[in-house]
Amino acid sequence: MRDVVIIGSGCAGNTAAIYAARANLKPLVVQGHEAGGQLSLTTLVENFPGFPEGILGPELVENMKKQAQNFGAEYLHGSLLEADLSKRPFRLSIEEEIVETRTLIVASGASARWLGLPSEQKLIGHGVSSCATCDGFFYRGRKIMVIGGGDSAMEEANFLSRFGSEVTLVHRRGQFRASKIMLDRARANPKVKFLLNTVVDEVLGVAGNLVTGVRLRNLETGAVWEQEVDGFFVAIGHIPNTAVFKGQIETDADGYILSKGGARTNIPGVFHAGDVQDRTYRQAITASGAGCMAAMEAERFLEAEGH
Ligand SMILES: Cc1cc2nc3c(=O)[nH]c(=O)nc-3n(C[C@H](O)[C@H](O)[C@H](O)COP(=O)(O)OP(=O)(O)OC[C@H]3O[C@@H](n4cnc5c(N)ncnc54)[C@H](O)[C@@H]3O)c2cc1C
Repeated sequence: MRDVVIIGSGCAGNTAAIYAARANLKPLVVQGHEAGGQLSLTTLVENFPGFPEGILGPELVENMKKQAQNFGAEYLHGSLLEADLSKRPFRLSIEEEIVETRTLIVASGASARWLGLPSEQKLIGHGVSSCATCDGFFYRGRKIMVIGGGDSAMEEANFLSRFGSEVTLVHRRGQFRASKIMLDRARANPKVKFLLNTVVDEVLGVAGNLVTGVRLRNLETGAVWEQEVDGFFVAIGHIPNTAVFKGQIETDADGYILSKGGARTNIPGVFHAGDVQDRTYRQAITASGAGCMAAMEAERFLEAEGH
């Protein structure tokens, strides 16, 4: 029987583990398919406070993990496959193991949707990104491309125009899902150029491990051409990792956990932390802050229940 199980080993899960371990709760962290979470996909992180020269994403999350382990947190390989949250203790099926726990912290993140091209996957963190706030600064005076046709693509294109010499927005259709106001803003931006009915066939630069351009294809004419690009931003949405809790933890229509205040979910004893509940900020520091909140709430919950 565990006091606290944490699902996810990104910034939110690791920070929750540090706090829960220092509260002597010996948390168990289930690492999931992506140990270290989304920061393990990136290179330099320049906006996490405390690192004036920046720090590599994988190093930052590894440091957090070591910090939690130093205080007694345990890490388990594998993913949560099933959860019975209908009664306490909660019953979790983690690969081959069944674990029972008094409280649960869900820090399973929201994975960025990618185009799925092998070249794109190889160049994540090397010119390919899914986060303008995180990586826009690296592309001052450079050529930027944004993929997508919704509000987030418009927002990212506008934001990135502060840095890039030009921003090309590529959308596979002729119509946009984006709201009129967001679209109008992007259209009024002299730095943003639109390429419609166009798809990316390949991101170029794999041999040198740095994006140099893209190969594009117009779906109407069949024309294929290459274009020079330094920063390639995919803005086609995120998928909150909540499928395993479906029908138990309340979410919005897109699957983001609905907060009941603080770090609370609709189920007493189950807390949320990080991007799995946050469609707005999606940053390492906000995820870490949320992990701290969730661990403190779990500790108070256990205290109130006499554990
Ligand atoms: C390329 C890239 C660059 C970025 N750069 C920056 C940056 O410079 N600065 C910044 O502040 N932010 C940056 N971000 C955003 C930042 O990485 C996220 O906001 C942050 O990682 C969110 O942390 P999290 O712990 O909530 O979720 P995640 O980091 O997404 O971690 C989720 C964890 O849950 C686990 N998981 C999922 N499902 C299960 C399951 N069923 N069972 C067990 N575990 C599960 C996963 O394995 C993973 O460990 C970047 C993101 C990307 C993709």
